[in-house]
Amino acid sequence: MASRLLSVARPEELLRPLAVPDRLLLGPGPSNVPPRIQAAGGRQLLGHMHPEVLQVMDEIKAGIRYAFQTQNRLTLAISGSGHCAMEAALFNLLEQGDTVLVAINGIWGQRAAEIARRLGANVYELLKPPGKYFTPQDIEQGLLQHKPLVLFITHGESSTGVLQPLEGLGKLCHRHGCLLLVDAVASLGGAPIFMDQQEIDVLYSGSQKVLNAPPGSAPISFSERAREKLLRRKTKPPSFYLDMGWLANYWGCDGEPRRYHHTAPINSFFSLREGLAILAELGLESSWERHRANCTQLCQGLLDMGLQLFVEEEKARLPTITTVRVPEGYDWKDITAFLMDNHGMEIAGGLGPTVGKVLRIGLMGCNSTSGNVARVLGALQDALKRCHRSRL
Ligand code: PMP
Repeated sequence: MASRLLSVARPEELLRPLAVPDRLLLGPGPSNVPPRIQAAGGRQLLGHMHPEVLQVMDEIKAGIRYAFQTQNRLTLAISGSGHCAMEAALFNLLEQGDTVLVAINGIWGQRAAEIARRLGANVYELLKPPGKYFTPQDIEQGLLQHKPLVLFITHGESSTGVLQPLEGLGKLCHRHGCLLLVDAVASLGGAPIFMDQQEIDVLYSGSQKVLNAPPGSAPISFSERAREKLLRRKTKPPSFYLDMGWLANYWGCDGEPRRYHHTAPINSFFSLREGLAILAELGLESSWERHRANCTQLCQGLLDMGLQLFVEEEKARLPTITTVRVPEGYDWKDITAFLMDNHGMEIAGGLGPTVGKVLRIGLMGCNSTSGNVARVLGALQDALKRCHRSRL
C-alpha cells in the first residue's frame, strides 16, 4: 500500500552486494589499510562519551604527541580529512584582516591561500616553482616584506614530491612575531619532524597516508604561542564544528569536564588509534628509515629505466611520494589506466601545477616495502612497453 506513495523506486544498485576489489594503492593516498586497522574500525560502536571511547581519545592524543614530537596540551584529532584540519588551523588562527603569508610551491599552498581569503584575511603569497623548496632566506625576505601574523608552509608537497626543510623556520618566524603553521599530511611518519624543537606552532596531518587508517580523522596540535593567539581572538572562529575551544574541551585538553560537541566518528578513532599504535611499535626512527630506504630504491629503479625524476635534488625528495616525469611519447592516463587494469595497482598522475607532467608513486606506512618497489617498477616497465603512443 505504502509503496504507492513513493515516487522514487528502490535503487536497484543498492540491492546488489557492495563491490570492493582488492587493489594495491601506490598513489599519493589513501594507502592500503592493514587487517589490524580494518578490524579496529569494524568493532562494535560505543557511545561517543563512554569512558572507553574517551580513553581511546586519550591514547590518540598520546600517539599524536609522539608522532609530532610535542608536549602540547592542545593536541587532538579533527573529525574530518586533511582539508578539515587545514581549515581548523586557519579558521582558528586567523581573523578578518589578519595578515598571513602562504608559501606556495604546489597545490597545498594554493588551497591554504584560498581558504584564508575566504576568511577575509590579508593574504600574501611567497612563490617557488613546483619541484623547488623555500630557503630560510626566501622566508625571511617574505617575513620582512609582509610582516604576517602566520606563515603557512607544506612539509611534504604531495603534488610535486618535494620535502620542505623546516630547520630554523620556527625561530625565524618567532623573531619576526609570526606563527609557523605546517601541513604534514603527506609526510608525517615518513620524514623527520620535531614540532617542539623546530618551534612549529600549528601542525596537522591526516589518517590515510603513513598511518594507514581510513580517511576521515586528522591529527592536529597547537603550541602555547598558538593557543595564546586563540585566546586573544576578538571574534569567534567562523566554524562551530571546528572551534578549537569546543574541541579542546571535548578532547579533555582544557582541564574542564568534557561536554558534548559533536558525535565523533568513533570507528575512525579506533582505526586511527591502531595506526598510531603501529607507528609507536615500529618507532619513528625506523619508520623514517624505512621510507627513506624504499624511496631511494624506487628512485634508483626509475633512473635505471631511463626515466627522469621531477625533483632533481636528492635531499629535497619526499620519501613518501615520488614524482617522475611522464616520458616522451606517453600519455600519463594510459600508464595509470594500464597499471590499474593489468596490475590491480593505483599510481596517480600530477595534481595542480604538475598535471600532465608527472606520475606520482606513493609508498606509505605498510605500503613502503621493497616488495612494492619491485612490483611498481615491474608494472611500469610493462606499461612502457605497451603504452607508447605509437602502439596505441
Ligand atoms: N595536504 C597535503 C600535503 C596532502 O597531501 C593532502 C591530501 N592529498 C591534503 C593536505 C588534504 O588531505 P585530504 O585529502 O585528506 O583532505
